[in-house]
Amino acid sequence: MRLGRFTIEQLSEGFFELFKDGTFAKMDPNRLNNPGDDPTLGRFSSAIGIDPLLISEGDNHTIVDTGLGWGLDHKSSYAESSNIITNLGIFGIQPKDIDLVILTHLHFDHSAGCTRVSDQFTTEATFPNARYLLQKSEWDFALSEQQSKQEAPGADYRLDELYRLKADNRFEMIEGNHSPTESIKLIHSGGHTPGHQVVKIEDGEHIAYFLGDLIPTEYHLNHYSMKRIDHSPLTAKKAKTLILKEAFKENAQLFFYHSLFNKSGRLAKDLHRNYILQETRS
Ligand SMILES: [Zn+2]
Repeated sequence: MRLGRFTIEQLSEGFFELFKDGTFAKMDPNRLNNPGDDPTLGRFSSAIGIDPLLISEGDNHTIVDTGLGWGLDHKSSYAESSNIITNLGIFGIQPKDIDLVILTHLHFDHSAGCTRVSDQFTTEATFPNARYLLQKSEWDFALSEQQSKQEAPGADYRLDELYRLKADNRFEMIEGNHSPTESIKLIHSGGHTPGHQVVKIEDGEHIAYFLGDLIPTEYHLNHYSMKRIDHSPLTAKKAKTLILKEAFKENAQLFFYHSLFNKSGRLAKDLHRNYILQETRS
């Protein structure tokens, strides 16, 4: 999709079933046709999408969140899976072309694609020339949670491979709001996790947001916190209220990471003053 001088693409890894213990399985999208006939779905698991974002401005390429990383490793059993590298390939972009990787937070479904296991069985950065940006408070929190193991579904940190990036000084740890480029602004929202950040893309009159897990799907537009999943529901509620108010005023394009169907659109309000998503043609 064109947005001013940017091209923005969602790099969809497909549909997944997320189980209550935090594990993922690839799912047959046909199961979504008649969800009522499927007693497992909704009771023991939920269906989600995984959609990292590619923001291109000429030869400058930024990725926001890196997906599950399935199939990236040497001799991976998911060799046929679509992942961040195969999806970039669709647009003729190679891992070495990526300049910037932004992580909304470090839950593994957002950050596992940061690294891969090479043919020599060493962990290496998936994007060898990129700066990896995250909030310092996210790293600190992830470290402390790794020991205490959270129970919430999907809210899981797996830092083992990410230590390599840390040791190699690949991470740029930021504190609070930050603008890595003229047109990209990182808004430290907290809420979902203490170091969660939202990405705002601005080009004159064109504005877009990538909402990470603060608002993971269009179904969450009017639910101001996810009590089971958000670390701080109150902070999440405040951040959501402010960002949606701003995005509505700006007529901004929104991108969702976990949506199944409506992955992007602009905000409108229905008769009850609830937000609805209006699809935009790309
Ligand atoms: Zn998350």
